[in-house]
Amino acid sequence: MKILISDAFDPSLPARLERFGEVTDDRDRLPEVDVVLVRSKTKCTREYIDNAKNLKLIIRGGVGLDNIDVEYARSKGIRVYNTASASSIAVAEMAFALMLSVPTRLIEAHNSMKEGRWAKKELKRTELNGKTLGLIGAGNIGTEVARRAVAFGMTVLAFDPLIKNHEIVELVELAELYERADYISLHVPLLESTRGMINGDSIASMKDGVVIVNTARGGCVEEEDMAEALRSGKVRAYATDVWLSDPPDPSSPLLSAPNVVMTPHIGASSRENMLRIGDVVVEILEDFKDQI
Ligand code: NAD
Repeated sequence: MKILISDAFDPSLPARLERFGEVTDDRDRLPEVDVVLVRSKTKCTREYIDNAKNLKLIIRGGVGLDNIDVEYARSKGIRVYNTASASSIAVAEMAFALMLSVPTRLIEAHNSMKEGRWAKKELKRTELNGKTLGLIGAGNIGTEVARRAVAFGMTVLAFDPLIKNHEIVELVELAELYERADYISLHVPLLESTRGMINGDSIASMKDGVVIVNTARGGCVEEEDMAEALRSGKVRAYATDVWLSDPPDPSSPLLSAPNVVMTPHIGASSRENMLRIGDVVVEILEDFKDQI
């Protein structure tokens, strides 16, 4: 079996995969490999798949499959797997860090100290305790965020059309979530139903001063509408790990809008998660090795 590691995985992974065959990170060898490992950087388009003449298996280290033309791959007999739940803790911690940074005013406080200012009087704070968090999507990551939010004394609501019972959150319709939530955190895949779902209309139905956290996909948010809502103060802060592209286009209105907390898509990048992803990759190859 020939395995191409096309994107960044844990440095320990190549040695762990050697028992399955030859491991390479030379992308020019795509036409001869049986298995390709990708994260989000490599785009497995039709053209990519057509070029991979020997390919039998694509493993996406991570959750979404939006960088892979899954239907086309499957039509060519290529199996496609991801490492679905491995990243939940890492992304939930990131969502929580982004959410906490707003009421603690962590970024402004840090920057003021770096600038030599003692802003103790002007940096008035609030707390998460007692606030209502609305989760859009209550799957693996949403559930981990809910656990943490409950520990912080928050009331947790969620809208998720596929989940009928949930042990932690109160399931509500989207309109009710928008009406009641002080904080909204997105945990959905990018689908037709979620693309641009945070837009001028949905924001208008939210509480004044709502805080929105996005560790899902940049495309779930209409950037222009969000920038306008931040300028008007309707949205108090937008804390995001995800963008329309990695990195965002320099013309993105969010880069210059007020009260944006930004990280460069590092939600899943914890060392522990990279090791967990490696464990799942090994499990998949273990199941698959006799079929190649
Ligand atoms: P999951 O499949 O366990 O949960 C997603 C949930 O979204 C499902 O329960 C589904 O029913 C729900 N959903 C689908 N359409 C919806 C809609 N229109 N409205 C509300 N809910 C809807 O996935 P997960 O592991 O929790 O991951 C969620 C998303 O997080 C991924 O799809 C990916 O986009 C994103 N993600 C980001 C990073 C990062 O680095 N920031 C890393 C991993 C995953």
